[in-house]
Amino acid sequence: MDENFKLILRIQSTDTRVDEITREQEGAPKEIQRLKDDLDLLEKSMEQDLSNLEDLKKGNMGLERDLEEIELKLKKSKAKLNDVKSNKEYQAVLKEIEELNELTFQKEEVVIKWMEEIEIQEKECADNDKRWEQSRKEYESEEKKFLQRMEELGKEVQSLHEQRLKLSREVDQDLLGRYTALRAHLRSQVIVPVTDAVCGGCHLGIPPQQYNDLIRGDSLQSCPNCNRIIYFEKNENP
Ligand SMILES: [Zn+2]
Repeated sequence: MDENFKLILRIQSTDTRVDEITREQEGAPKEIQRLKDDLDLLEKSMEQDLSNLEDLKKGNMGLERDLEEIELKLKKSKAKLNDVKSNKEYQAVLKEIEELNELTFQKEEVVIKWMEEIEIQEKECADNDKRWEQSRKEYESEEKKFLQRMEELGKEVQSLHEQRLKLSREVDQDLLGRYTALRAHLRSQVIVPVTDAVCGGCHLGIPPQQYNDLIRGDSLQSCPNCNRIIYFEKNENP
């Protein structure tokens, strides 16, 4: 293989690697954003749970106040029992006490249910805190890794650019021009091997005469189908 051809192949390798890096650089922020979105979603659900807990606590305080009022009424009714003048009045107060006792019982039942709800909600909030802490750590560690990776890739691109600049000064300028034009048009590998008379770019056959010239390797060939620059490569697994 002639020296120019080796040079242009090395240029292609650097270009391919730069393309790979570009794809990775473009894809990584999406993954970070996904983790950030998860974290934001979790924070919203935490706010909702906290606000639910506040509502439950407020409601419970209202119930406790109701119970205190009923208790006060009960005391008054019980005190009235000492002052009743007639049996009819006595019965009426007893009925009043009975009703208040029933009301107390009902309210207490509700308080128990609310307390249970509060307990469940408090546990949910505590679990949320743990989950959030975990997600935040994951996000921060991924972000750190991402930044490190981007720095590495940035350095690699810099070095590839320097290599390419050096190679592009050494290589035959006509060949480089041809390569550059093809690359702009194809947006994929421009120089491809031909194995068993099949082009590695378009996978179509190369005519026998051209294939023989290619094996002899005395001139630079183009694929008649896709126009890529081709070279002969022995089939290692025939
Ligand atoms: Zn081809």
